[in-house]
Amino acid sequence: MEKHQSTIQNIIIVGGGPAGLAAAIYAGRAGLDPLVIEGVPSGGQLMLTTEVENYPGFAKGIQGPELIAQFREQAKRFDTKFIQENVIGIEPAENKTNKTPRTYRIKTDKQTFQAHSVLLATGADAIWMGLDSEQRLRGRGVSACATCDGFFFRDKTVAVIGGGDSAMEEALTLTTFAKKVYVIHRRSAFRASKIMADRVLKHEKIEVIWNTTVSEVIGDEKVEGIRLQSVDSVSPKREVLKLDGIFVAIGHKPATDFLRDSAVVLDKKGYIVTSSQEALRYARSSKGNGSSTDLNFNFEYASATCLTGVFAAGDCVDHTYRQAATAVGMGVAAELEIERYLNEIF
Ligand code: NAP
Repeated sequence: MEKHQSTIQNIIIVGGGPAGLAAAIYAGRAGLDPLVIEGVPSGGQLMLTTEVENYPGFAKGIQGPELIAQFREQAKRFDTKFIQENVIGIEPAENKTNKTPRTYRIKTDKQTFQAHSVLLATGADAIWMGLDSEQRLRGRGVSACATCDGFFFRDKTVAVIGGGDSAMEEALTLTTFAKKVYVIHRRSAFRASKIMADRVLKHEKIEVIWNTTVSEVIGDEKVEGIRLQSVDSVSPKREVLKLDGIFVAIGHKPATDFLRDSAVVLDKKGYIVTSSQEALRYARSSKGNGSSTDLNFNFEYASATCLTGVFAAGDCVDHTYRQAATAVGMGVAAELEIERYLNEIF
């Protein structure tokens, strides 16, 4: 039977990756007794990463799961409670009088919690090609982040899969390290913006292989090559390309499906819209003067969603930077805003 928790929490943080755990450390130190609902499996993308060399403070690098373990330990030190369950929905709780502050019900697959404020920090996952061999060699030459892993491919040969702006950015980043970068795209034209595509097409280290997909990643312990499949239906060719690394850049998917039936506004790709992005979008729109929008965003708080008291941070919001360090920064900023919000309503 579904359990209903009677205590109303000050803050529930949904997601146990860098953004959620950084917020928990701050909320704990602020005496808010945070509850983190981590999700199963917990820890986010860093749990699938091997060496992290660019997280400040770890001069010798640190393994992704170890970094998460340290964040968690630090949050626990300040009385953060953790629950490993998947959140399946969030809704405003009944508001009996207008004087009581708004609270939210957060439902997991096992129980329902209630909180005065919520931080959504559920992260995102790279979209993968869906090959068994790709999954087997993840972290052993298969990556979805050139900024994170490009350094390991100095003077090596690598391939980037995809034809959007992310693929262009990954390929250009990799030219700093690798001696040769292939871009493999399934069509004969890039989807990317012209300026990015032109940079790739003009780069002496980059060679584009058009109308081609990858049917297998080859290698036992680490990537040794890929099997290419031409999509040309008249004379489909299959060949093996020898290389040391493959970067899959075919998009990201934010972990926000559980919000589809909620009032939280998502953009067309499923990322949570916060007031800072809404302000930017509005300022850029033809009618925009940056002062107000049709939606109920509270522009006092950069990380506020359109639901009062519900905030969002990290990769479920940010489709641009997607770094552990930027997610941590967003989580901290959101928590400081939540402290301000709680002070205002009590
Ligand atoms: P995207 O624009 O959706 O592009 C994904 C690319 O991957 C497409 O070229 C697509 O091919 C290809 N693809 C999808 N599924 C595939 C599969 N199973 N096998 C092989 N190829 C596959 O995604 P994105 O590049 O991550 O960009 C997302 C958004 O962020 C875009 O709006 C982009 O402009 C923006 N962004 C901007 C910047 C920047 O301005 N610096 C940097 C990164 C991202 P098709 O073309 O055939 O569909």
